[in-house]
Amino acid sequence: MPLYQDEGVVLRTAKLGEADRIITLLTRDHGKIRAVAKGVRRTKSRFGGRLEPFMRVDVLVAEGRSLDVISQAESISAYAGPICADYAAYTAANVIAETADKLVAGEHERMTMQYRLVLGALNALAKHAHDPNAIGDSYVMRALAIAGWTPRLRACVVCGDPIDAGKAWYFSIPAGGVMCSADHTPESTPMSWNALCQMQALVDGDWGGAGHSSADRRNPPIGGKMG
Ligand SMILES: [Zn+2]
Repeated sequence: MPLYQDEGVVLRTAKLGEADRIITLLTRDHGKIRAVAKGVRRTKSRFGGRLEPFMRVDVLVAEGRSLDVISQAESISAYAGPICADYAAYTAANVIAETADKLVAGEHERMTMQYRLVLGALNALAKHAHDPNAIGDSYVMRALAIAGWTPRLRACVVCGDPIDAGKAWYFSIPAGGVMCSADHTPESTPMSWNALCQMQALVDGDWGGAGHSSADRRNPPIGGKMG
């Protein structure tokens, strides 16, 4: 069987048979992959605890006819320990892993930005860099933005008037952004200026370190304008 090497983060695991697990990984070069880890549930597994959710690992994978098979796994960063020790961080990490799993639909398609974003978010959670909920929310907004779902927060989606602090503004999920009081639709909800600034900060959020991605350039911070 042909082998490939990659690094990735474990998004989730599922039991298979007596002692095996199917591991879903988001990898740097192969996008999302699902691969069998044989014997991983045995006490003396050669994988040890390295294929648990949120672990970052270097893997050697054999291409199989239906499912790939993990032949080696080495731990790179121990994000999982500090994350699992903190309930709020653990909850946020689950949201992050679930979102990444759903947003990256296809397997074996390289998704470098999504990968770096997941790494940045887990790294921030492990270091307790910010409030775990804020990291989780920020991750979701940015992951959606990378996938092409950026909410328009700087101008009315109908008339294009730029938003400013002096007027009432509404937010519509189906319309994908902000609406002025003249154009707002019945399903839209009023948004305070503070809430709009908060949303913008979430979209632009940066946790430092591994969190950098080209989303930062696409959505330059507008703190100066909105402050
Ligand atoms: Zn308008």
